[in-house]
Amino acid sequence: MNQTLPHNPLTRFITDDESCWSIEQYQNQGGYQGFRKSLTLSQEQLLDTLKESNLRGRGGAGFPTGLKWSFVPRGDDAPSPRYLIVNADEMEPGTFKDRMLMEKTPHQIIEGLLIGAQTLGASIGYIFLRGDYYLAEKRLTKALQECRDANLLGENILGSGLDFDIHLHTSAGRYICGEETALINSMEGKRANPRAKPPFPQVAGLWGKPTIVNNVETFCNLPHIIHFGPQWFKDLGLNDDAGTKIFGVSGRVNHPGLWELPMGTPIRDIIEQHAGGMRDGYTLKGFLPGGGSTDFLVAEHLDIPMDYDTISKQGSRMGTGTIIILDDRYCPVAMVLNLIKFFAQESCGWCTPCRDGLPWAQVLLEKIEHGEGEPEDINQLEELCRFAAPGNTFCALAPGAVEPLQSALKYFREDFEAHINQACCPFHDKKRQGID
Ligand code: NAD
Repeated sequence: MNQTLPHNPLTRFITDDESCWSIEQYQNQGGYQGFRKSLTLSQEQLLDTLKESNLRGRGGAGFPTGLKWSFVPRGDDAPSPRYLIVNADEMEPGTFKDRMLMEKTPHQIIEGLLIGAQTLGASIGYIFLRGDYYLAEKRLTKALQECRDANLLGENILGSGLDFDIHLHTSAGRYICGEETALINSMEGKRANPRAKPPFPQVAGLWGKPTIVNNVETFCNLPHIIHFGPQWFKDLGLNDDAGTKIFGVSGRVNHPGLWELPMGTPIRDIIEQHAGGMRDGYTLKGFLPGGGSTDFLVAEHLDIPMDYDTISKQGSRMGTGTIIILDDRYCPVAMVLNLIKFFAQESCGWCTPCRDGLPWAQVLLEKIEHGEGEPEDINQLEELCRFAAPGNTFCALAPGAVEPLQSALKYFREDFEAHINQACCPFHDKKRQGID
């Protein structure tokens, strides 16, 4: 690759310098060049560039961004105002990538929104921020003010005729608010239940107007795609999936953390090279490839590439790309119980498989973990997973919630059975002996 082109576009702005999040530093390193270029291009050219880049949504679903944006009505008769919303309500268990981007490079997100405004003729942007992200809130607030002072937000931006401003909206702290239509309901002051789709928000979203909701990392990619071109972006990926991805690892590895790597990087490289491998005395037993709502994979999958399609073919999802490790000393039943408890608590209560199914799964898992389980409980858990399958629920919460459970029953079934047969948690004693 041409040495002048970055291979780590999203993190190249991040330095140890305490002011790497300031507008001055960002502009000194080439920030806002993508937006300046976008002002010289037509809406169609911008949309074509986005489609050609093959960027897929980085929030977890991987929907093609250019295709999604192409559904927004354009032209003089199109409904207005049109809205852009950054989904910064990062609450997927094990996921902390957007937090890093917001704390370290808030201007990259603003620049992505500005390009979105220029592409879709949007006049208002919102950043829907997880309420607990206090530092991100502070830095985004400062960055927004810096942009207003520099005429990068407001009226007639840089003399281009573009009027656009961004509001920071802090969430009250519910996982379901990350679902785009629940998020929109919440912003309208309503109860955060997901809406029926269609209509998709691209056509009728916030206050019934065309609205694009995309993840923080997705917006962060836009300045670079416009600045360096779609072919450069595609070439960053190691296979058909384009660009880089912020991958992460948590669990008992030597160096848990986040790294920007090419899409398609083998899972083994992420865990062993970047996360430093398993800590002494621990062996990898399984892992959730993309946050708490993805299916477990196991050691035999370590050499597959991290990209949307390959992980799907293995029966899981790349999700947010933040890997959660299960080691041989941690109880898989306890891990799944912990996740199910979270999802049961976060259900909005709208549809039965989620409202009733997840608490029921929690009860059964608690029974098994506490040594009171019966063989029939495993069958019931499997039945509950089928009950919450996609198509039976209003949104992706319950189908995602049962992914770790259904795959734990597949890969670690003997651990569930051992709890029932021994009438205790076989991992529990080890914990008490201080091995844990
Ligand atoms: P989804 O597949 O329903 O939608 C993804 C996006 O594509 C949406 O913007 C939607 O409008 C668009 N889309 C999908 N089908 C479309 C169509 N036919 N026409 C037009 N647009 C269409 O997924 P979702 O429910 O938005 O998200 C589920 C994912 O979110 C899961 O993969 C989960 O991993 C992830 N997630 C992430 C977090 C986080 O903190 N980052 C939190 C919860 C869930």
